Amino acid sequence: MQNQSEHIQDTNREELRFKGIPTSQGIEFGKAIVLFKEGPSSYPIHISEESIPEELERFSAALVNASEELQHIIDIAQKESAKISHILETYLLILMDSIMHESIRTRIKEGYTAENAVIHEFDVQKQFFTLAKDPIIRERSIDFDHVTERLLNGLRNRTISHAVAEGSIVIGSSITPTDLMLFHKAGCLGFITEIGGIASHASILARSLSMPAIIGLRDISEKVQDEDAIIIDGFSGILIVHPTEDTRSFYIQKKKEADDNKLSLGLLANTECTTLDGYPIHLMANIDSIEDLHVAMKYGAKGIGLLRTEYLIIARQHFPTEQEQIEWYKELSHISFPHPLTIRAFDVGSDKYAEGLAEEDNPALGLRGIRFLLQRKDIFKNQIRAVYIASKEKNIRFMLPMISTINELKISLAFIEESRLELEHEGIPHDMALPIGIMIETPASALISDSLAPLVSFFSIGTNDLTQYTMAADRLNEYVSDIYDPFNPAVIRLMKMAIESAKKYGINIGICGELAGHSAATELLIGLGIQEISVSPPLLLELKKRILHINYSEVSQLH
Ligand code: PEP
Ligand code: MG
Repeated sequence: MQNQSEHIQDTNREELRFKGIPTSQGIEFGKAIVLFKEGPSSYPIHISEESIPEELERFSAALVNASEELQHIIDIAQKESAKISHILETYLLILMDSIMHESIRTRIKEGYTAENAVIHEFDVQKQFFTLAKDPIIRERSIDFDHVTERLLNGLRNRTISHAVAEGSIVIGSSITPTDLMLFHKAGCLGFITEIGGIASHASILARSLSMPAIIGLRDISEKVQDEDAIIIDGFSGILIVHPTEDTRSFYIQKKKEADDNKLSLGLLANTECTTLDGYPIHLMANIDSIEDLHVAMKYGAKGIGLLRTEYLIIARQHFPTEQEQIEWYKELSHISFPHPLTIRAFDVGSDKYAEGLAEEDNPALGLRGIRFLLQRKDIFKNQIRAVYIASKEKNIRFMLPMISTINELKISLAFIEESRLELEHEGIPHDMALPIGIMIETPASALISDSLAPLVSFFSIGTNDLTQYTMAADRLNEYVSDIYDPFNPAVIRLMKMAIESAKKYGINIGICGELAGHSAATELLIGLGIQEISVSPPLLLELKKRILHINYSEVSQLH
């Protein structure tokens, strides 16, 4: 790294620092490539009548170019990121819509340039999405911008990826996952954008490619020039332009420490997870895709404590069929074998997408999780059948979200058994003893946990929702983020009640909420008697390192 960073030093310019939101960790040294911003007004609008055939031709050629390029990127993405290839396939579907092509051709025939026709038509289509009630559909309107941009690039007969050389760091207003994939192939080391979210597609992709990234740095494309020497710090969200010699030395050291830490943590992947005094902790992962599962396995997870099946709906934009689910669950259970795979029933409603879901004033307090499933038994049944049919390897567990009454649990268990019996009558082999458990994520479920425990095989504490509902503070609302505190004694007492109930009835109890990965919570959770901890894959090794240093006999005295 030392050599690589040397040539980028710029001694004549004053060092500048900017702070944005870190979205993908890592440190890199490189040269800035500032993406050119072109507004719709930079294109000519009208053409003469005799230019129309040529313009139509230009549009057809751009369409072919853009779709070929997209197909090429999809092929690359399939190997690197299944999540992203699904998104790119959506782009291709939009791009290949023949009705849209016809509208664009009609506008060109009316005397408009191909660029103008493309921008106009995509804007019209985008409106439908922007006005949708469903926030997920509204968010997808951005896809139209990405496809428009690809077509406009095609019309200009240029691909921006050509400008991105090895060792560059891209700076732009926003970045599409498609371009990011191409930049990555061209040797780009990181990116910085003015807008974008931590959960945006580009951010997700950056994390899976281990590329440092910073978002939310407003007007940054006007403050940095092409070829400027820069350092991107994806741990703290700091961008340094024209770094001084001292700054470079500091970051060379910081990068080395980060690499060493990664390496030493890597060695822990195969270490048994026990406390200093030999108390075993079952470390598992929260995942929502096969990709995540591979990462989890690499980091030494001993199974999956939470499979968020909602991802299947989001990826497909509809509830998956029984067959689609069977294939997915089978593959996941096969990869995690012999360790458990805990499949959570669809937790739709509230902030999570669901097809045809009724509009509610207070969706977090409405028809979500098990409440929705008991109203849509067709969807619930499909999932139950798929889970059982995929259970041949006998390592699947099934978990119900948002349980808050005994009756609700009894009705759910009866329905699950009824559906299982149907399979038995149909002669379909399955794991008859498949463990069924529940999330403890409402205060009610914790308070009546002694009545729920005898009915199920395991509990898993969902601190994200347990905190939200106990503290009456929306988990996504930044105005009440100080009240949304999983360490509040009210939340801890409820957790303790659930743990005691589980121990009393001899069932497993784990935790899969975000608190499980919090560095300040490890001693507390283990001291309380939690033996199964499930966290997102990147947190596994740090967590294991902490567990290895804990003395169970000491921490269990604290509570
Ligand atoms: C939780 O509520 O803590 C949990 C793990 O579930 P989710 O975050 O998916 O609601
Ligand atoms: Mg939850």
